[in-house]
Amino acid sequence: MKISEIFYSVQGEGMLVGTPSVFVRTSGCNLRCAWCDTPYTSWQPEGEELDLDQVMAAALRLPARYAVVTGGEPMIAPGIVPLTGRLREAGLHITVETAGTVFAPVACDLMSISPKLAHSTPHAREGGRWASQHERLRIQPEVLRRLMTAYPYQLKFVVAQPEDLDEIRALAAQLGAESSRVVLMPEGTNADLLRQRGAWLAEVCQQEGYRFSPRLHIELWGHRRGV
Ligand code: SF4
Repeated sequence: MKISEIFYSVQGEGMLVGTPSVFVRTSGCNLRCAWCDTPYTSWQPEGEELDLDQVMAAALRLPARYAVVTGGEPMIAPGIVPLTGRLREAGLHITVETAGTVFAPVACDLMSISPKLAHSTPHAREGGRWASQHERLRIQPEVLRRLMTAYPYQLKFVVAQPEDLDEIRALAAQLGAESSRVVLMPEGTNADLLRQRGAWLAEVCQQEGYRFSPRLHIELWGHRRGV
């Protein structure tokens, strides 16, 4: 499988924020978010072809009890099912971070599903050539329901503007999501912008019973790889 990076850090987002974890980042994605913060796994996918034994050896060299399998879109990575199986055999708690457009029968303790909102569609990037595929794929209600039924989940939304909230409320209601499992996180890769957006988003969470998530890794280390 094509692996972008394997590193040890703390989880920066969602219900397990702050948890020391080994991150296995696959390269390749079926979406093209306009603001993608890992373009080296989507717009210009980079990485090294590693077999399962090589991935496991690199992951188990690190002292984590929690694994985060992320991307890119890890659910489309060849070998994702055996990889999660091997991580489970090794006794690690597994989070899979996915946009929720594809189902695969992975081993997973927290399915971190991040459906992409309308503002993610890349109308202005590369002449808009990815916009129609992105728009067609970004919300797959049947896949989302299947993931939410099969695994403990969080629905983690990247929020850029107040207008995003109507879309979130409608999708959460359509899916019957528990509000305590709906996580709102400010969009951005700049600590000042995250603070500014985070301030109003935290108020929204207080009013609506959603969970607020920071982007802790960016606050601590800035926007760079390997954290
Ligand atoms: S789904 Fe994730 S990896 Fe894929 S383009 Fe969007 S932000 Fe980037």
